[in-house]
Amino acid sequence: MIKVSGVSRSYGDHVAVSEASFTIAKGEIVGFLGPNGAGKSTLMNIITGYIRPHEGVVNVEGIDVVKNPLEAKQKIGYLPEQPPLYLDMTISEQLLLQSSLRGIPREKKKTAIETVLAATRIEDVKNRVIRNLSKGYRQRVGLAQAILGDPKILVLDEPMVGLDPIQVTEIRNVILSMGKDHTVILSSHVLSEISALCKRAIIINKSKIVADGSIGALGRSMEKGSKIVARICGPKEDVIRLISSIPGVLRCECTGESEPGSLDFLIDTDPNTDIRKDLFYQLSSCSYPLILLKPQDIIGLEEIFLEFTGAPAQNINTLVGS
Ligand code: ADP
Ligand code: MG
Repeated sequence: MIKVSGVSRSYGDHVAVSEASFTIAKGEIVGFLGPNGAGKSTLMNIITGYIRPHEGVVNVEGIDVVKNPLEAKQKIGYLPEQPPLYLDMTISEQLLLQSSLRGIPREKKKTAIETVLAATRIEDVKNRVIRNLSKGYRQRVGLAQAILGDPKILVLDEPMVGLDPIQVTEIRNVILSMGKDHTVILSSHVLSEISALCKRAIIINKSKIVADGSIGALGRSMEKGSKIVARICGPKEDVIRLISSIPGVLRCECTGESEPGSLDFLIDTDPNTDIRKDLFYQLSSCSYPLILLKPQDIIGLEEIFLEFTGAPAQNINTLVGS
């Protein structure tokens, strides 16, 4: 478990992280989402024990990170924004060095290195000098280094930056498979990466946590009423009249045909009334089959982000100039 309590950090007069508090349970995959300069990397550096907070406490699996940064570092696999790589070493040499730093016993080093080479798909290039690798491959070496020795907590700062779309998919799959039995924190300014990997997002803007919750719950918290979609085989006007007569229905409109022989209806309901049983009885009394009933798709991360940061989602990339 990771517990961050009242953490703040400034650079001179400039506040980089302001009063951050949250808890991350074992096995969660959590995304730090925010534009460039929001404070994501600073917060990650604090959680991993690389820089000290000016205020607050960070506890990782019972270890006070501020007091015992070395012990905390043993527990956490960290991929910083700029992976610390020795450019003149080969990938194998770099990973051998890292396995010593991590305190992996001599007899286990070979297997540990082979495992991460395979997981990040760099076995074929393991004898290449890092200086000659592309950004994408260097990022994979950084990730291999982070997961070496199988630390149960992974902190990955913008792991997808500089990767091409195929590499993004590969690294995403590595993270997803690690996520099955690891606690993962990853940061990104790209909404789609967070929603593809994380159930929970912590949205950071201008040094502050502005939202924290499951992506579904964040969406629901923004919904005004309750909307459901019903797919029905029946004549449009008749069905609208029937549904509109049900107590608790505020509005009903036909949104068209998405499946042949049926029509979709968007029903706006009073959030305190569950109309589903009435809907079923009314429709069946007229022999209009109800073939689908579901809540309207929840609001996506893009709208959530806009709501909490005031920045249009499509401008995030422009903001960071990447
Ligand atoms: P993010 O990772 O979300 O882009 P950072 O944590 O890197 O944000 O930066 C947060 C703020 O702190 C930014 O305004 C940045 O300019 C500032 N900052 C980060 N590191 C330093 C530093 N070493 N010295 C001075 N200012 C810094
Ligand atoms: Mg950063």
